[in-house]
Amino acid sequence: MTTFAGAVALVTGSGRGIGRAIAERFATDGASVIVSDVDGDSATQVADAIRDRGGKAVAIRADISSESDVAALVDGAKREFGRIDVLVNNAGIDLVARVEEMSHDAWRRMLSVDLDGAFLCIKHAREALAESDLRAIVNIGSIHAAHTQPGRAAYAAAKAGLAGMTRALALDLGPSGIRINTIAPGYIHTDIWSIWLDRLPDADATLRQIADQHPLRRLGKPEDIAGAAAFLASRDAAFITGTVLTIDGGLTAMFPPPPI
Ligand code: NDP
Repeated sequence: MTTFAGAVALVTGSGRGIGRAIAERFATDGASVIVSDVDGDSATQVADAIRDRGGKAVAIRADISSESDVAALVDGAKREFGRIDVLVNNAGIDLVARVEEMSHDAWRRMLSVDLDGAFLCIKHAREALAESDLRAIVNIGSIHAAHTQPGRAAYAAAKAGLAGMTRALALDLGPSGIRINTIAPGYIHTDIWSIWLDRLPDADATLRQIADQHPLRRLGKPEDIAGAAAFLASRDAAFITGTVLTIDGGLTAMFPPPPI
């Protein structure tokens, strides 16, 4: 029997990038997967690809910053598969703007997706999770919660908020058997970087330089995060809750941090 046989995993923002790799990993390990994204077409493509390989998946479009979308997403997941064992709060956006150029609307948009979105999904999936076997929540945070760069105030605040929420909700949800943990990825090469890479004069050179600064001499891949998400959601992690797991190829183990 594979690790997640009979289980149902809901992965937000799984139309591409890290979320897609997580959805595919859970499906490979036997879970039925709710592939959810604000871009319904990309979610449908991922769910179709999983089913083409013999897995079980359905796509549900949802903007996680909208409470009505999240409520409909959870209802849809229960209608499709009858239960939710694992919630992966992966969906996120990036924002690079110094305080003098950041509007309050942009700040609120950032927080509403990267922090409020996870809260809303947890709030609405909590009852279903408490009735399930695995009862696992995995949030995708960032190393920016602890080490950050100029222009990242909103992103760093959202991801630090996620880490704090993880510890606090471990206390609130622990008595009902629900575990909650956060992964803090470092540089994982996905489309989310485009907002930052587009500002650089020579993006390829910068990427090579950053890769060389890693103790492991490479950038991360979405699959590096998917493996950790599968572990944290599995029974092997049954006594792990309220933690933040850094997955960054050793980058933040260094002092001083590299000049990027
Ligand atoms: P991508 O931009 O590649 O994928 C993010 C996905 O989330 C997209 O499919 C996007 O949809 C979707 N999404 C965006 N906003 C919403 C929303 N409101 N509701 C539902 N879905 C939404 O990013 P990554 O895969 O790189 O990032 C995934 C997570 O990992 C994020 O939380 C990010 O902050 C975090 N992370 C990433 C790192 C990296 O280096 N890549 C490092 C540290 C953390 P659409 O295609 O329409 O934009």
